[in-house]
Amino acid sequence: MVKFNSEALENAVSRRGFIRIAVGGAFLLMAEGIGSAADARFELKPLPYSDSSLQPVISGNTLNFHYGKHHKTYIENTNKLISGTRYADMSLEEIVIATANDSENISLFNNAAQVWNHNFYWKSLSPKGGGDPPSALRAKMEEAFGSVEACKNELADKAVSQFGSGYAWLVVDGGKLKAVNTSNADNPLTKGSKPLLTLDVWEHAYYLDYQNRRADHVKAVLDKIINWNFAAENLERA
Ligand code: FE
Repeated sequence: MVKFNSEALENAVSRRGFIRIAVGGAFLLMAEGIGSAADARFELKPLPYSDSSLQPVISGNTLNFHYGKHHKTYIENTNKLISGTRYADMSLEEIVIATANDSENISLFNNAAQVWNHNFYWKSLSPKGGGDPPSALRAKMEEAFGSVEACKNELADKAVSQFGSGYAWLVVDGGKLKAVNTSNADNPLTKGSKPLLTLDVWEHAYYLDYQNRRADHVKAVLDKIINWNFAAENLERA
């Protein structure tokens, strides 16, 4: 089985197309401007941890469905929707921003934003998460919310109070940290703020494990698997 780093490959690949080469039963995508393989423009990136490593906060069963079914389907839909269009050569972030609030591209926005959101969500979690944030992030949290605990409470409130499907986010907006929520596939990129981390509060993120107890899921995520290091890295680049 040939494995490759899809992110590195994505960066290396010409935007003009791909050649598919079958190697040992797998397809290796190579950069070249021959053929049409827009159906493989975006790929399911490997999770940064094993399926079971977020247990008991998130079960392997939930992760398998969430990543292997929901996220995968958003990618497949995005690839189909951009094929042969002016979006086919854009980066994922460019597609999300270009189609936000565009009534003619609602389905593409929803699917592309969900790909972006889930790529970001997996990195927002870690088997070694929770605990104390790195000092630079902690200082910004204290400045904006008064304390780390108050920041977590605000994030939890945004996550629990999001009506229906959506996300809670820690963002940088105007140089200051804020906790916000967004509905369905929407995300902070469309509002010009810089996301640091996210919590997915679509029911598919927790219902197999917590049923209607979203607040319990959110608390467990924030206490035990939230990836403050990822947020700190994003803060450095903000
Ligand atoms: Fe999700």
